This record gives sequence, structure tokens and C-alpha cells, in this order.
Amino acid sequence: MNEKLFCPSCRKENEYTTKERFFSNGTKHIEAICVTCNKWIKFLQQVGAEEFRMPYGKHKGKTLRGIKEEDREYLEWFVENSESLKIIKRIKEVLESYEMSQMF
Ligand SMILES: [Zn+2]
Repeated sequence: MNEKLFCPSCRKENEYTTKERFFSNGTKHIEAICVTCNKWIKFLQQVGAEEFRMPYGKHKGKTLRGIKEEDREYLEWFVENSESLKIIKRIKEVLESYEMSQMF
């Protein structure tokens, strides 16, 4: 890991190590930990929503990332027509991260 981050705890700009953390809502975050003081610096990215697999329907078993590339309209349709709020929330995260990445 060559990239450097500013650590708010020891106030040094130094190297960091990464650790995976799983939250109770099923999402996975990658967090950056300072190599000097071993404190949390920040979350680098959230990968949980994209890796979530559809439990049923036309794209059963595929990840949201894969469906987004293959059949984005389906995800938009699902958000409008499904009552599964947990899945809708994840789909929205995936669609939003797509839109944000298009801005850069
Ligand atoms: Zn530190």
C-alpha cells in the first residue's frame, strides 16, 4: 500500500492498512487503519450493495453490479414496482454510485 492518508489521531500523513468490516445490514466496508497509531482513519469504499445477489426474479443469483451492467432498466423497474425495501435500498446505492462515478 503506497498511498498515504492524513491520520486524525496521530496527525501524521502516513501509510495505512486496510480492514474489512461487515455491518448488520449486510453491507461490507473497507476501512483504512493508521500503521503508526493503529487508529481508524476513514472508510474507503462500501462494496456490500454491489456484491448483493438477487434472491429471486429474472436475475436471481446475480450480483447487483452485474445486473447494472447487463440490464440497468430492470433495477429501475424493480425500484418502482417492488415492495422489498431492503433490496430497493441496495439497488439505489448501486445506481447512485454509478451516477457519481459518471461525474468524474
Ligand atoms: Zn495515526
